[in-house]
Amino acid sequence: MRIALLGPPGSGKGTQAARICEAFKLVHMSSGDILRAEKISGSVNGRKIRDFMANGMLVPDDLMMSIMRERIIKLGDCGFVLDGFPRTIVQAEALNRMLFELQRPLMLVLNFVVDPTVLQRRFEGRRICPACLSVYHVDSNPPQTPGLCDNDQEPLITREDDRHDVVQKRIQTYQETMAPLVAFYAQMGNFKTVDASGAIPEVTKVVLEKMHRHFEG
Ligand code: AMP
Repeated sequence: MRIALLGPPGSGKGTQAARICEAFKLVHMSSGDILRAEKISGSVNGRKIRDFMANGMLVPDDLMMSIMRERIIKLGDCGFVLDGFPRTIVQAEALNRMLFELQRPLMLVLNFVVDPTVLQRRFEGRRICPACLSVYHVDSNPPQTPGLCDNDQEPLITREDDRHDVVQKRIQTYQETMAPLVAFYAQMGNFKTVDASGAIPEVTKVVLEKMHRHFEG
């Protein structure tokens, strides 16, 4: 299975991607996590992307493509879930060309749609583990011990780009680029919309049902 998830920041695509990967044994390809890991590594690409990310701006398409291309090729025949990538038409077209050349086209695109007021609340409570990158929410997905990661007991942090002003900018950037991207995939087929305003387990149920129907008929 090769799947891409579309949806605004805070739509829960990351959480749902992890659940899809667990259920179907796929590799989770989160562009945000990949970029953060690149940044922490201090690589040349990591230094180039730092300012874009800190200001809630998209990383330039050519740089993004070269980072993702390398990782996708490394996956070989493994199934994957793309989360946060592609984010622009240029990326979507370049990804299509690349997957076509590899003879591994996308099989399903899921578009996560969320009420904007629900989105804001989701950001305010989001926490991540700086060590293993697990994602929690103080209301909907709290860790067993408040403030500590379940996996490694690291103190949880609020991501730099979850700050109020950066969040506003990220949502605005997403809205400007989303409409054409959704239209691009909708006309290609293998495209389904998911109402992601509900609680995590409800959305997971809907997503897994849609996937079973899509892949098993
Ligand atoms: P995310 O965790 O998906 O919200 O991504 C965090 C930040 O990484 C974004 O605000 C962008 O600066 C950058 N980013 C993630 N994915 C992409 C992408 N596909 N294209 C450009 N920039 C991206």
